[in-house]
Amino acid sequence: MSIDKGAEKGVDHRRLGRELELFDTDPLIGAGLPYWLPDGAVVRHALEEYVREAERRAGYRHVYSPVLGKRELYEISGHWAHYQDDMFPPMDVGGEQFVLRPSLCPHHAVMFRSRAHSYRELPLRMAELGGMFRSEMSGVLGGLTRVRAIGLNDAHVFCTLDQVAEEAAAALRLIREAYAAMGIEAARYRLSLAGPGGKYVDAPEKWARATALLREVLDASGLAYEEAEGEAAFYGPKIDVQVADPAGRESTLSTVQIDFHQPEQFDLHYIGADGAKHRPVMVHRSVVGSVERAVAHLVEHHAGAFPAWLAPVQLAVLPVSDAEYEAAAGLAARCAELGLRAEVVGPHHGTLGARIRASRLVPYQLVIGAKEAADGQVAVRLRDGRRLDPMPAAELVERVRGLVAAHATALWDDLA
Ligand SMILES: [Zn+2]
Repeated sequence: MSIDKGAEKGVDHRRLGRELELFDTDPLIGAGLPYWLPDGAVVRHALEEYVREAERRAGYRHVYSPVLGKRELYEISGHWAHYQDDMFPPMDVGGEQFVLRPSLCPHHAVMFRSRAHSYRELPLRMAELGGMFRSEMSGVLGGLTRVRAIGLNDAHVFCTLDQVAEEAAAALRLIREAYAAMGIEAARYRLSLAGPGGKYVDAPEKWARATALLREVLDASGLAYEEAEGEAAFYGPKIDVQVADPAGRESTLSTVQIDFHQPEQFDLHYIGADGAKHRPVMVHRSVVGSVERAVAHLVEHHAGAFPAWLAPVQLAVLPVSDAEYEAAAGLAARCAELGLRAEVVGPHHGTLGARIRASRLVPYQLVIGAKEAADGQVAVRLRDGRRLDPMPAAELVERVRGLVAAHATALWDDLA
């Protein structure tokens, strides 16, 4: 495991989140219920859009489903029997009981069941970035890592037994691609198995089959992994991708799970080539996990200096004096038209040196003096301290646009 920037600086995402005005909490809203300020919302949107785009390319189709459902839904899924301690208590409405959902799977299973499916439609990949809830106790809540309301990057792949290994392997590839784009690393890959106690669905044959499939996927991936008992989901084993915070504490960000249980509980089926009904398998997978935990990790790992595609402000435009303000504003407007996030930091914010320091987390700092304004050029400073020769503003903007579109972590050289 490498020691990241966050660890060197001992960054706490709660402190930095408040300082950078990304997110905060208020006792009146409640513990574990953070709200996202505009700059935090920009980071979250960028991440969500990245994930949706990656999923679209990988053949997923997105859906929306409500954040609550009837108690019976979770009795069928098994959550009520195995996961009730983590769920909010039911709400009585007109003689029916509703619960805030503890996961998205039951909704997706019901949605799959609502239409007839041929084997030709499989694998059917259903994705949703949706809300779910966990009734954490107040004492353990903090920042974005332990929350009661969660935005989960979730998906369920309904497929045949023959397709399971490839779907799980493809999900693992998506995860690794996303980590590369986010500039983060997995601390550990873990094969999480059932343990002793009554937490798990009792179906030894299904557990053995799912575990063997996940082992096969991990072995074929060439990744080093460890096995851990007692860390599985109640319905099946899973691959957990662990990340570490600056203090070295691990948590699970991404998962890939194989589930034979819920398809049976919801009596899911597809029509096979033989014209008969067959039971699909469900692969549950999350690429970046909950957006709360993902952003907390990004804040800590990068100490606020996000890759350009995630940065709340990508370009700070710094006119040397008021005389260049108009040129600076014109450049910022051009960036905005092209989908880039630029901000003019004018002379009223202080000396040029002070403004550059204040923009230290912004990937690109563009200085416009009298000469640059006259020539349509900019003098570029990169966040890492590198200074580039003055260049045409249009060329700079195109270059940055390309790097952002490619979700590059490099600020300049590495993608010529
Ligand atoms: Zn699920």
